[in-house]
Amino acid sequence: MTALSSVEHDPECLLCRAEHVTTWHFEDRECWVADCLVCATPMIVWRAHGLPNAEEQARLLRHLERVAAERYGEDGYWIDAVRRRIPDHWHAHARPAGGFFDPASELFGRF
Ligand SMILES: [Zn+2]
Ligand SMILES: [Zn+2]
Repeated sequence: MTALSSVEHDPECLLCRAEHVTTWHFEDRECWVADCLVCATPMIVWRAHGLPNAEEQARLLRHLERVAAERYGEDGYWIDAVRRRIPDHWHAHARPAGGFFDPASELFGRF
C-alpha cells in the first residue's frame, strides 16, 4: 500500500478526477502537469485532495517549471499559485510573462 492510497479523494472534485481532457506533459506518483482546460497554460496538480507543505510544494513546482521553461522559453513565465476555482486541492499555473492565459486559450487577450 502506497502512502498516496490513503489520502483524501473527493469524487466531485475535477482535479481529483484527473481526466485526460487536455495535453498531459508529465505525471508521477505525486502529481501531474497538464494544460489547464480554461487557461491553456501548464498546470500542476497534486494527486491528493489537500495542500502539501511548503517543502513539498517547492519540490512539486520544479516539475511545472521544467514544462513552463520548455513552453515559454526566452519569453519567460511566472508561477501563479493562487487557487481560484478549487481552493482546497493544491494546484498551480505557469503563465506567460506579462500575461494570464496562454495564446492557445479562447480567453487570451480578453483580460
Ligand atoms: Zn487555469
Ligand atoms: Zn480534489
